[in-house]
Amino acid sequence: MTCDRVPLRPTVLTAAAGLLCTALASLPASGTAAATLLYLLPVVVCVVVTAVAVPRVPARSRGPWWWLLAGQCLYLAGELVFAVGDLRGQERWPTPGDAFYLLAYVPVTVGLLSLNRQRSSSRYRGSLLDAAILSLSAATLFGVFVVLPVASDTAQPPLARVVSSAYPVADVLLFFLVARLVTGPGARPPAFWLLVLSTTSTIVADVVWNLQQLTVGGTTSGPVLNALWLLYYVGLATAAASARAPWRPEPASPSTGGLTAPRLFLLAVAASLPSAVLVVMALLDRPVAVGWLAAGSLALIALVVARVWDLLQRLRSQSAQLEALARTDPLTGLPNRRTLEHELARLCRPGRADGVFVALVDLDHFKRYNDTRGHQAGDHLLRSAAAAWVEDLGPDGFLARWGGEEFVAVVTGPAAQAERRLDGLRAVVPDGQTCSIGVSRWVEGESADATLQRADAALYAAKAAGRDRCEVAGRASGDPATGRAR
Ligand code: GH3
Ligand code: MG
Ligand code: MG
Repeated sequence: MTCDRVPLRPTVLTAAAGLLCTALASLPASGTAAATLLYLLPVVVCVVVTAVAVPRVPARSRGPWWWLLAGQCLYLAGELVFAVGDLRGQERWPTPGDAFYLLAYVPVTVGLLSLNRQRSSSRYRGSLLDAAILSLSAATLFGVFVVLPVASDTAQPPLARVVSSAYPVADVLLFFLVARLVTGPGARPPAFWLLVLSTTSTIVADVVWNLQQLTVGGTTSGPVLNALWLLYYVGLATAAASARAPWRPEPASPSTGGLTAPRLFLLAVAASLPSAVLVVMALLDRPVAVGWLAAGSLALIALVVARVWDLLQRLRSQSAQLEALARTDPLTGLPNRRTLEHELARLCRPGRADGVFVALVDLDHFKRYNDTRGHQAGDHLLRSAAAAWVEDLGPDGFLARWGGEEFVAVVTGPAAQAERRLDGLRAVVPDGQTCSIGVSRWVEGESADATLQRADAALYAAKAAGRDRCEVAGRASGDPATGRAR
């Protein structure tokens, strides 16, 4: 039995862990051996669950999970070092555990990057810009309200300031990678949301920790932080236990490129947040890093403009595709009837020196061909006949599908040469099949419809005369075509 066939029960695990987190959240602050042990026990269980679950993730999608597991192991190492110091009553900040915590960002970043790569491709530039807008907004606020105050807090030793600033900077990177996962198109199975929850909870925990550092200080984490960090461990363990196939991208919504109304609202809020904060701080007459907030706002405007531009490009290319589709016959790829009308309107203009010749070309006994060889073979004949006629007519000829097994060829030039070219189409019909052709010449003052009607009458005559021939409207006296002079 392979590992892949032994799925863990993510729902049971999630429920159990959820209960545990809630219970732990109400624990007293750390510092006592019992509290530390109660915190570390589920952490160790979760890391063990992740370590058991990752080898069971299907091989195609397993890579990123190894990195996330490595990150979790480093976090655990940090927790253990931190706990020892905590129990010894060490109040120094940063602690040796921080080296492990900070190091853990490397494999976690690599893991999230690989998950992003599994899921998205460069085609989804729109969602990349969305993630960048959300992250830049968060980065501006993190920078102004967390990193700058921490970095400029001269009461703290330099190492403490560097370490405290490093967390929010690394968290912004994680925030971007999670936002990229969430904004990108693709399946969102339970493992996806569990991973998002897990990573988000570390980011929130770090923000809370930093704010606590700025306000009350100290190294004690407290029940809320413990619960948030536990949520990270539980989230990752359950995500790994329920991870299945890679989270492949799905096509983005064709018209909006994923830019739904709620997302637009969220982006608008994110993009205007630094400016709004600037205004509020000015109104409250509170000191704030104006330069950073203004720079963040400007960069956000640039990203929003890039997003609009991306959407515009997408719409342009879609409308070009739709236009091409509306002009083309899907089976043969030839211009369709609508395009033919435009082409005839362009060619049949008064005062032109050379002639315009219109031919209705109809495969003979095509119904019989369909009935004996099958509809697919019929389709194939239509396609190959169309290709052969296009090649025979050359670049200055025009061929459109009129409907069914009927086509319209249009050539210009002297009468004898044009009729010869059109009659020549009979010689290239594939698979030993034949066709009948009715030709008419456009005469000045006549509508293109009338020219086509005369060609149709000539075709009827060709069929009536025994098929596999080309009749020219008005040439023979008994011709059912309207007998106009050529
Ligand atoms: P004739 O020599 O008098 O033109 O006879 P015919 O059998 O070619 O003409 P008829 O109008 O009796 O039959 C045309 C057939 O073409 C009937 C229809 O099923 C078939 N047909 C029309 N469009 C398609 C198509 O897109 N694919 C295929 N395979 N068959 C088609
Ligand atoms: Mg036919
Ligand atoms: Mg027909």
